[in-house]
Amino acid sequence: SVIAITDVLAGKFPVNEEITVHGWIRTRRDSKAGISFLAIHDGSCFDAIQAVVPNDLNNYQDEVLKLTTGASVKVTGQLVESQGQGQAFEIQATGVEVLGYVDDPDTYPMAAKRHSIEFLREQAHLRPRTNLGGAVTRVRNCLAQAIHRFMHNKGYFWISTPIITASDCEGAGEMFRVSTLDMENLPRTDKGEVDYNEDFFGKEAFLTVSGQLNVETYCSAMSKVYTFGPTFRAENSNTSRHLAEFWMCEPEIAFADLADAANLAEEMLKYVLKAVLEERADDMAFFQQRVDKTVVDRLNNVINNEFVRLDYTDAIEILLNCGKKFENPVSWGIDLNSEHERYLAEEHFNGPVVLQNYPKDIKAFYMRLNDDNKTVAAMDVLAPGIGEIIGGSQREERLDILDARLEEMDLDPEDYSWYRDLRRYGTVPHSGFGLGFERLVAYATGVQNIRDVIPFPRAPKTASF
Ligand code: ATP
Ligand code: MG
Ligand code: MG
Ligand code: MG
Repeated sequence: SVIAITDVLAGKFPVNEEITVHGWIRTRRDSKAGISFLAIHDGSCFDAIQAVVPNDLNNYQDEVLKLTTGASVKVTGQLVESQGQGQAFEIQATGVEVLGYVDDPDTYPMAAKRHSIEFLREQAHLRPRTNLGGAVTRVRNCLAQAIHRFMHNKGYFWISTPIITASDCEGAGEMFRVSTLDMENLPRTDKGEVDYNEDFFGKEAFLTVSGQLNVETYCSAMSKVYTFGPTFRAENSNTSRHLAEFWMCEPEIAFADLADAANLAEEMLKYVLKAVLEERADDMAFFQQRVDKTVVDRLNNVINNEFVRLDYTDAIEILLNCGKKFENPVSWGIDLNSEHERYLAEEHFNGPVVLQNYPKDIKAFYMRLNDDNKTVAAMDVLAPGIGEIIGGSQREERLDILDARLEEMDLDPEDYSWYRDLRRYGTVPHSGFGLGFERLVAYATGVQNIRDVIPFPRAPKTASF
């Protein structure tokens, strides 16, 4: 089977023996002495392995000297300890087989030079070939694996929740409609207009904005569960932290209150960020050097310090008294904007903040009403540089109060009959949260815009589609 370059560089193969690697040329350099140095990478780690190619190879003139950045090769030779600085090992090539040239190196979009992150964003199909694209992809994978490992170690079951749903869980009206494309047989109203209420084989359907209500169903039977998958929101705005398609990890815990959810969120963030620092030190060194000079220190701080816990009401006091002019005026009852969230996390506390007990009027129907009748047991985890990275709450488990909330918010209890059943049959206190996965990747890497940490960004005005 094919050998991964990461394993070669990690010293997993005996020196002075023959080895074959496959990959793409990062750079080619020719010495006057008639030797070429190929830096070959295969995506398995940040670094490339150097192959030293002597000019007495029979295809040296005709083929090796035509290799340019991006060309694919199979290189065989002796694995030796490297004399120069850089990698510990290199290959003394005895054979270079060209698998594919870059047909026009002058116009190859990923030629070896620095590209702007905006340019790369428009080249989604070539972006993973760059240092940045590769590093983001490996860190993203590391974070996803660490999330599953963390949940597994804690005894949670992973549940897949549906993409096609009927209810707007967040009540924010940001849903994409799901339609059949049977143009001949589109459902029509009496007036002959297309009837979207019938569109999904006689029903109205949407792409999910959150798996929460579904995951609560399984929580009400299996105690500790989570979902981790894509969600969709019609965010027709151009912010650096909103996508139309993004991933969320949503744990749901039975017999648990808001503090339990906040503790789990804190523990999870620390665990996965630690995993990235340990397992992707190569990529993190790159981010530190090229993207954000403070990223590694920042993550170490997060791992080693307790998150602040703060009531919404106290946060409003801080914002009112901090002497800073905000674009969006502050008063009790407002939904915080990213400028407020970032002030709290960046300037006031300089670390993650768990903000709790928000006014009920700005939160979804399912959040548990506090005894003051004004606030709900909601929490957001705010991270410096990003703002909200997690949103969660204790859920309303009391049927009478849930019904009153539905009515207050003009929602039809009929639409939530299955959700109400969970309260009718053996209800339990429970809580959970949603972690925005792209915001986490952005936070872990220091990359500013979440469009650059998802392989194929879906947002208004992103061209690569
Ligand atoms: P925001 O206030 O930033 O719009 P939200 O409060 O609407 O976020 P929630 O419904 O609480 O978001 O969703 C849980 C988490 O999902 C958020 O904390 C955030 O990390 C992430 N998230 C929400 N909307 C988006 C989006 N459009 N793109 C990427 N991540 C998102
Ligand atoms: Mg939102
Ligand atoms: Mg929010
Ligand atoms: Mg939220």
